[in-house]
Amino acid sequence: MDAAADERRHAPPRVLAAFDRAIGLDSTLRPEASAGAFPEQSSARGQAAAPVRATGPARVDVDPAPRQPAAAAPAAVRAARIPESSLRAPGDRDDRAARLGEIASRHAAACPHCTRATGWTNLVFGEGAPDAAVMFVGEAPGESEDRTGRPFVGPAGEKLDEMIKAMGLSRGDVYVANVLKARPPGNRTPLPDEVAACAPFLVEQILAVQPKAIVALGGSSVRALLGIDTGITRLRGEWLAWEPPAGAECAPIPVMPTYHPSYVLRTYTVEVRRQVWHDLRAVMARVGLGG
Ligand code: URA
Repeated sequence: MDAAADERRHAPPRVLAAFDRAIGLDSTLRPEASAGAFPEQSSARGQAAAPVRATGPARVDVDPAPRQPAAAAPAAVRAARIPESSLRAPGDRDDRAARLGEIASRHAAACPHCTRATGWTNLVFGEGAPDAAVMFVGEAPGESEDRTGRPFVGPAGEKLDEMIKAMGLSRGDVYVANVLKARPPGNRTPLPDEVAACAPFLVEQILAVQPKAIVALGGSSVRALLGIDTGITRLRGEWLAWEPPAGAECAPIPVMPTYHPSYVLRTYTVEVRRQVWHDLRAVMARVGLGG
């Protein structure tokens, strides 16, 4: 049995089946399905995996040490001054929520990029559990996000919701943010100077939440978080690590790069969906969700 087949054999069947349904993967492509190893396949379509608490004791099934040395954010993001209030270790859930609220207000009033950018309707700061075990980081708001002020609510958001659900979680269990908080004109890729100006607030968000793992959705996210220019196709699936700024009471945080949900929608191949599922399962294992 090759490594991939062996990995599939050990996946929790209900979660695996839920993800297969969610991403539209034909479960008969899995050898186990035809052997009757997944009786849940006969249950109602769309049934979610049993909810799994993100806050339970971590059962780390994979090497807890990131395989790669921690990578620093791009120099310009690193050079930004992070307020003392964001460098200290976060407290309980309420403390983290209050901290995120303060960062959001300060961002709206003072972000050097967003306060000057034009063409956006609502800033999209980010949302979710302030003490989430898993944080997803996308690129920038699109049209639907700009209209509602919420991250990932358009078509890419629906795909992200499916990915989260397949992990046995809901949007309320995770934290979702973007590199840029203001929609770029025409949905273009964020420019380096825009990232340099806005991403320090993402750094503060990460320091407030201090998740057990970050899922970097697409190349822009990896570039902004880690300063790595290598394409996402080559990076995805391998653990990297986010290096906190100097003086922060925070350990390096494991980062799993994977495809952006928009890319999954555009490139709806079995191979891409399998790769995303592989990456999400690695995250689940690391944060103690089975995987
Ligand atoms: N794409 C992103 O990267 N972020 C969003 O919030 C929506 C689409």
